[in-house]
Amino acid sequence: MIREIVQVGDPVLREICKPVERFDGELSALLDDMKETLRDAEGAGLAAPQIGVPVRAVVVDVEEGYFEFVNPVFVWQKGEQTGSEGCLSVRGKAGNVCRPSKVKILFRDRKGDRYSIVARDFFARAICHELDHLDGILYTDKATGVRDAED
Ligand code: ZN
Repeated sequence: MIREIVQVGDPVLREICKPVERFDGELSALLDDMKETLRDAEGAGLAAPQIGVPVRAVVVDVEEGYFEFVNPVFVWQKGEQTGSEGCLSVRGKAGNVCRPSKVKILFRDRKGDRYSIVARDFFARAICHELDHLDGILYTDKATGVRDAED
């Protein structure tokens, strides 16, 4: 089901999200909705609080593929890159953000199995942006030159 994407100003975007404890049908339904909502919005990533659910789950859709990260944590972050970002919860804006160029995270999938992944470049940027959402941080908190987006 496509869900409404919460916009900046809604307090749910500022919550410290809770870890997922149950890997059940409710989590699967949440992730399915997040995937559908992300695809509909043609975004690169979406965090659960962006559809009003303050739990630690994000989905990312990039060149490398579509990923679901539940209870993600950084193992390390290396290098830096500066580039333009936008956010489905901050419509019509873009800004430059400095992020690590390479990251490793640990996470669980929807069944609760543990994995790790190394991501670089835009994939790393998308992960950092989405994980920030789980701690109530928006890219506009870190960006310079926030401007109206071109499309
Ligand atoms: Zn965002």
